[in-house]
Amino acid sequence: MRRTPGTAVVTGGAGFVGSWLCQRLLADGHEVWCVDSFVTGGRDNVAHLLHDPRFHLVVADVCDPFDVPGEVDLVLHLASPASPVHYLRMPVETLMVGSRGTTNALDLAERKGARFLMASTSEVYGDPLEHPQRETYWGNVNPIGPRSVYDEAKRFSEALTTAYREHRGVDTVIARIFNTYGPRMADQDGRVVPTFVHQALAGEPLTVAGDGSQTRSLCFVEDTVDGLLRLAASGEPGPVNIGNDQELTVLQIAELITELTGSDSRVDFVDLPTDDPKVRRPDIGRAEQLLGWRPSTPVREGLSRTVRWMAGERTQPATA
Ligand code: NAD
Ligand code: UDP
Repeated sequence: MRRTPGTAVVTGGAGFVGSWLCQRLLADGHEVWCVDSFVTGGRDNVAHLLHDPRFHLVVADVCDPFDVPGEVDLVLHLASPASPVHYLRMPVETLMVGSRGTTNALDLAERKGARFLMASTSEVYGDPLEHPQRETYWGNVNPIGPRSVYDEAKRFSEALTTAYREHRGVDTVIARIFNTYGPRMADQDGRVVPTFVHQALAGEPLTVAGDGSQTRSLCFVEDTVDGLLRLAASGEPGPVNIGNDQELTVLQIAELITELTGSDSRVDFVDLPTDDPKVRRPDIGRAEQLLGWRPSTPVREGLSRTVRWMAGERTQPATA
């Protein structure tokens, strides 16, 4: 942030990543406006922040124009369904929040003279033909496949962010976030970590898609948030990959979670979703060079914290 402490707007702030971002911004001394419709997130995620007079919760759909009073230094635009289960259930809403929602968030940043961070995704690389993925890669997205509602919404958001930067003088940055996990992911979120942890704790079979050989690279949420805030504080335009470069197969993720939960759940192999990316691992050289950032939480430690939280010890962990 240019003024310290300053004021930040976090769209999607009552979601999984957004709630950690709000928590860290408050801990760093900032005032925070959290704007969220609760479509996939909820009040519970930010309940522990509501007592803080510097935290303001606005329940609103960012597809409608929105405003906050006073000066704003930073707009962090995270509002969007993010789990495949959610965006496949809400395809039009996902495209709308990527188009109308991003327009409204950029307009807010323009009116306030604020820096704007676009929370984009590794999904802009689609089912990648380049591995690991560098920011220079243009991606391999099926524009009419089921995942396109999310992938193309984020690609449009990146294009719109770039247009506002180049043609309207808004100070913007694009972060491409890779698979992030941690406490506050909902049991029913549908993404791989909360699903497997929930299943393992319940003694149910772990539903591994395909043969489980597809890969993902899991980043603990506190590390992701730290990367996003370093990027916001830099003058960089991005895009910059934010993620962990330790790659695991989905089957390895299942085995690790089974071990950490002490579960005797078996694995059930289920159908691989259409267009499910076969590999994913960020090249984080740019983030290391520009921001001095790389994730510091070992996957085993981050998963243990997630397991403890999902097992019922739902204390709100302190920020790193
Ligand atoms: P999440 O579903 O927990 O959070 C998204 C939040 O956005 C929710 O609180 C939801 O209610 C809110 N929201 C959605 N549509 C809205 C709208 N129209 N108006 C207002 N609020 C709206 O998901 P998350 O994992 O926290 O993801 C947050 C952001 O980070 C998303 O933009 C996602 O694309 C991006 N991202 C996340 C990951 C990840 O692994 N978690 C990876 C890449 C990118
Ligand atoms: N996956 C799985 N079982 C599940 C949920 C997900 O095997 O119950 C797989 C999914 O097919 C994908 C990977 O885990 O290959 C990551 O899926 P997720 O939905 O977490 O995110 P994605 O990276 O696909 O957006």
